[in-house]
Amino acid sequence: MSRVAVVTGGTRGIGNAISVELKKRGFRVAANYAGNEEAAHRFQAETGIPVFRWDVGNYEACVEGLRQVEAQLGPVSVIVNNAGITRDAMLHRMTPEQWFEVMRVDLDSMFNMVRPVINGMRDRNCGRIVNISSINGQKGQMGQVNYSAAKAGVIGFTKALAQENAKKGITVNCIAPGYIDTEMVAAVPEKVLESIVSQIPVGRLGKAEEIAKCVAFLASDDAAFITGSTLTVNGGQYIAS
Ligand code: NDP
Repeated sequence: MSRVAVVTGGTRGIGNAISVELKKRGFRVAANYAGNEEAAHRFQAETGIPVFRWDVGNYEACVEGLRQVEAQLGPVSVIVNNAGITRDAMLHRMTPEQWFEVMRVDLDSMFNMVRPVINGMRDRNCGRIVNISSINGQKGQMGQVNYSAAKAGVIGFTKALAQENAKKGITVNCIAPGYIDTEMVAAVPEKVLESIVSQIPVGRLGKAEEIAKCVAFLASDDAAFITGSTLTVNGGQYIAS
């Protein structure tokens, strides 16, 4: 298998840990980001992993970004759809912008990133697609109707795409993290965070590295018989069937 992996939102938070873990396991990694140049350049300097700026919510930008990655590193065999945002509000106060921005970045990105590379993976009879959903896509979360809907959509996307490509040596899986200690969670007010941690049986937030190791497993040859699945990684906070 060609060993080129693209990690969207691969320069910060969970994506940063995923990029580093995949590099450690021998992949040639390309880390995508949206616009935080400072974080991206610090990440590149620290890890030696090349960074590529494009908006995963824009189809043409994904086509061009992936073209550049393939020109520089070779055919893509692993896509980790990790980039995601929140724009929280109760639905009765939510603006159309808050709804559409989350749909664009968290759900449209699945199509935008996979469509340009899926035929290459099918032709080569190999590929790994790992999508990052969320506990809140599994159970729903007040104040996050947009995010919960998009992340539930990621699970449906994963299941259908897995069936379409199973005979072509391509696996498609998703991971549903619980609350992980990243900047996204640091933005949650302290009181809310305390109450969240009190609902996690393991008694702490998860670590980005713990998600990264799951991604690395699903991206490995050892996971060839796993497809269409959702791996729940949340410290026991929500035990999905
Ligand atoms: P962060 O906010 O820490 O990092 C987000 C990353 O995504 C950054 O690299 C950012 O780039 C990139 N990004 C954002 N928008 C775009 C875009 N339009 N195009 C390209 N890249 C983009 O997020 P986390 O690490 O916390 O979350 C990663 C994933 O895990 C998300 O999908 C999130 O929904 C999911 N998740 C997170 C949980 C948590 O507790 N943290 C829990 C469950 C799921 P830049 O640096 O340029 O802004």
